[in-house]
Amino acid sequence: MESCIFCEIIKGNIPCNKVYEDDQVLAFDDIHPMAPVHVLVIPKAHIPTLMDMSVEHADILLALGKAVQLIARKRRVAESGFRTVINCNEEGGQIVSHLHIHILGGTRLKDELG
Ligand code: AMP
Ligand code: ZN
Repeated sequence: MESCIFCEIIKGNIPCNKVYEDDQVLAFDDIHPMAPVHVLVIPKAHIPTLMDMSVEHADILLALGKAVQLIARKRRVAESGFRTVINCNEEGGQIVSHLHIHILGGTRLKDELG
């Protein structure tokens, strides 16, 4: 496997501003925030894209969902609202090939879908 920047963050070889961690999930602030709140939630397992998920990853998907809820509360956007984005492959704008959920909030987000 080619080196993966998010796997290096999980291993502690690249620093991050950690927002949340459990045995399956890590979340940290995006290095180039697109909104006042911009957190990336990633599985600790190296799953390249959403298309690589299958039924064997059901527990990871649940853990990612729970982490999104926790982080939204922690960053105080649960009530005001926020957006989750998963980019998939090149035309979807995925740059890092390690599945990640963007949590964006803290302002009124523009209605942009492409
Ligand atoms: P995507 O375009 O969906 O693959 O998003 C990748 C995101 O990872 C971008 O928003 C980048 O700003 C972010 N990113 C890349 N490297 C780092 C890093 N070392 N720490 C935090 N966020 C990063
Ligand atoms: Zn990885």
